[in-house]
Amino acid sequence: MTNLLDRNVVVLGGIGVGKSTAIQRFLGNEFTDRYQPTVKNTYNKKVAVGKVEYNLSIIDTAGQDETSLLDSSYVGAADVYVIAFSVTFRKSFEIAQVIRDKILDMSGTETVAMVLVGNKSDLSNERQISKSEAEKVAKSFACPYIETSAKENLNIDQVFVNSVKIANGARAGGAS
Ligand code: GDP
Ligand code: MG
Repeated sequence: MTNLLDRNVVVLGGIGVGKSTAIQRFLGNEFTDRYQPTVKNTYNKKVAVGKVEYNLSIIDTAGQDETSLLDSSYVGAADVYVIAFSVTFRKSFEIAQVIRDKILDMSGTETVAMVLVGNKSDLSNERQISKSEAEKVAKSFACPYIETSAKENLNIDQVFVNSVKIANGARAGGAS
């Protein structure tokens, strides 16, 4: 038997920020410009981080706004969250922060194992959130910030590799 460890990654964020597109990129599928509303989908992919191979379960979600209730089944299932926004849409950046607050409320913990993702970095003319502004917020959350373009397939793999590392860190640090 090989060493295959399961990790559940839940992808959250505002509607239209590119969650599904980024996941499809990670799975090796082509970029499409078509917008397809997501209800909830789970995908599996094996990924090696260091010498260990992981079986990632990636949960794609419908997308949230400030008022939507987070499905408690996500909060129970996640080893780590990928919380995504679009660098072209300030509202989605605010929603990302609200989502983190909701996870904290629901989990009753003081930290969230998460990666903050600013997608659509290819749309530089439409940018509303600078890298430094997002980095500041990520620092206050003690999480990595990664800028991606799902369209240009930039940094997508890093998001999921980092999510495994963060999940592992949370397991090691949160053992009780
Ligand atoms: P979701 O609601 O977060 O799952 O968003 P989707 O993945 O469905 O993407 C919403 C729209 O944004 C689609 O038309 C995508 O083609 C587009 N999109 C996603 N990622 C990018 C990106 O990195 N750059 C650009 N320019 N468009 C993107
Ligand atoms: Mg979607």
